[in-house]
Amino acid sequence: MPDPVHTRLLIVGSGPAGYTAAVYAARAMLNPVLVQGMEPGGQLTMTTDVENWPGDTSVMGPDLMVRMEAHARETGAQIINDVITELDLSKRPFTAQSDSGTVYTADALVLATGAQAKWLGLPSEEKFKGFGVSACATCDGFFYRGKEIVVVGGGNTAVEEALFLTNFASRVTLVHRRDSLRAEKILQDRLFKHPKIEVLWDHEIIEVEGTEAPLGVTGVKARHVKSGATQTLPCEGFFVAIGHAPSSELVKDQLRLHAGTYVWVEPGTTRTSIEGVFAAGDLTDHTYRQAVTSAGMGCMAALDAESWLSAQD
Ligand code: FAD
Ligand code: NAP
Repeated sequence: MPDPVHTRLLIVGSGPAGYTAAVYAARAMLNPVLVQGMEPGGQLTMTTDVENWPGDTSVMGPDLMVRMEAHARETGAQIINDVITELDLSKRPFTAQSDSGTVYTADALVLATGAQAKWLGLPSEEKFKGFGVSACATCDGFFYRGKEIVVVGGGNTAVEEALFLTNFASRVTLVHRRDSLRAEKILQDRLFKHPKIEVLWDHEIIEVEGTEAPLGVTGVKARHVKSGATQTLPCEGFFVAIGHAPSSELVKDQLRLHAGTYVWVEPGTTRTSIEGVFAAGDLTDHTYRQAVTSAGMGCMAALDAESWLSAQD
């Protein structure tokens, strides 16, 4: 078994929060180690245009994340393609087991594991995942050229996915459980004006319908939330865009949580309920959940960690 890799600061996660923490920590001469996880670059690698990253009127999400990674490397952070499978926060140095078998020990930790797509939880959704059911339009939209697509959800992600999918689909129906969207107004305007998009209000999806051999989606059954009336919407692609849940599995039994399963931090800081452990980005933020706020919190986490480590010295 290889010797543990020890670092002053271990950063878990490679979204805007993790990479920004790495840039600041490296510039503070902490020689941070950043473990990227299963999704190097985080959620923005699943989208196309990002139009609210200051300094870029429009930038492709994956390009932005490649630049952030390069910036973190350039400043001296060690970036490792590995996944943390277990964290022991009960004693210092903290210990992290990883998928590759490497054990990391760290004097301080920045947790920036972000969030993951939520699913409806229907057995038929599970059955057709990867066979017509997806949570990532940029990954899978290409497979539905000239086909009908249904998207469920009413937030920014659902609207952006519906708009993006018009590049491929013959028709996109957005199904939402209420009669108004929570997406930004500018996105709503684009949605309502789009000739290929229809919105079905006050409906929930109760089943994904499809064929067995080959496994594939033929439609989704939608139910009116008030009358209970059902209808089948024919489609070959069904995209679930109903939000994200924080990736707090590793620490949910060790750290104080808030708003369900988000990691709690002391207001105005990134300090968690355990000294020396800092949290940033979507993992802790159930309100804003933006690239720029995550990056800001990543900066705060590195500065908080640096000042805590100095105090220990
Ligand atoms: P994430 O980006 O979620 O990254 C989490 C990281 O943690 C990943 O790298 C993952 O691999 C890693 N990780 C998880 N578990 C482990 C583990 N066990 N071990 C090691 N690493 C782990 N925001 C905007 O501001 N503008 C937009 O236009 C925009 N568009 C979006 C479009 C879509 C489709 C989505 C889904 C989100 C969008 N957002 C947008 C929101 C934005 O992407 C998030 O707010 C931001 O990415 C959160 O950053 P983060 O660093 O906290 O976490
Ligand atoms: P979100 O804002 O939480 O919206 C989730 C949507 O899904 C809501 O409309 C919700 O309905 C609906 N929903 C939730 N559970 C459902 C269920 N079981 N069945 C049917 N519908 C369900 O999530 P998001 O759109 O993924 O956005 C997450 C964060 O990322 C937000 O902060 C967002 O601003 C950010 N983001 C930003 C951009 C951008 O800036 N361009 C792009 C994408 C995402 P209700 O409305 O009824 O609750």
